[in-house]
Amino acid sequence: MTKAMNTHLHFNNFGQRTVLTIYAHADDEVLPAAGTLSLMSKAGWNVRCLILTDGSLSSSSVKGTRHQEADAAGKIIGANYEFYALEECNFSTQAVIKVTEEAIEHWHPDLIITHAPQPEKYGHRDHEVCAIAVSNVATRKNIPLWYSAPPVFLRGFEPNFFVDITSVIEEKIAAIGCYESEANKAFMQLDAILVLSRFWARELGQKDGYFEAFEISRQWVDASFFSAIANSNKIEYGFFS
Ligand SMILES: [Zn+2]
Repeated sequence: MTKAMNTHLHFNNFGQRTVLTIYAHADDEVLPAAGTLSLMSKAGWNVRCLILTDGSLSSSSVKGTRHQEADAAGKIIGANYEFYALEECNFSTQAVIKVTEEAIEHWHPDLIITHAPQPEKYGHRDHEVCAIAVSNVATRKNIPLWYSAPPVFLRGFEPNFFVDITSVIEEKIAAIGCYESEANKAFMQLDAILVLSRFWARELGQKDGYFEAFEISRQWVDASFFSAIANSNKIEYGFFS
């Protein structure tokens, strides 16, 4: 299930790309994007996952558990995690803007992925604040920005970019499985994740396979992007077949 865990393919000839994900809570990132992040890390991207809250207000054991679970998930999908200790259900847009600006300063991301902004009555409060603040900074700094699918209630989410994650679906399942402390949430149940992945496949007219869906808020690529894709395909076919 983790056959390619340690086989990162680097394309340093083009300069290593960095994707920065910014989510409110640990586990928010694996549900909609673990497959895509895993594919990116295999293609040589530096995958940085920033989590705004660490459960530190619940209890110290929760905090430690969240960190351990995220690190375990990160080993599977090839991502490095960084936690901030903002207060759940109480952090401000300003606080997230500050965190986002610091992270950009530090990592110089080529792409940012975050929560999809949703109409207020459907989105989790923390997800909304995160989405708005990150969008503000990414737009201001002209950094490509993708929104990932909300875990429940897709209202307001209009995907226009789909990633075939069939080759890494087992890694996604394993990464989700790392978050045992969240496993009792209804939407964490495996069948729900698989159903949604198949739903996106059907949206695309595919009978088989698993997909993740994104809404591209803004995107640009330079010429080397196409070389990287061409080379990664070549290597990946040789590697997996
Ligand atoms: Zn969340």
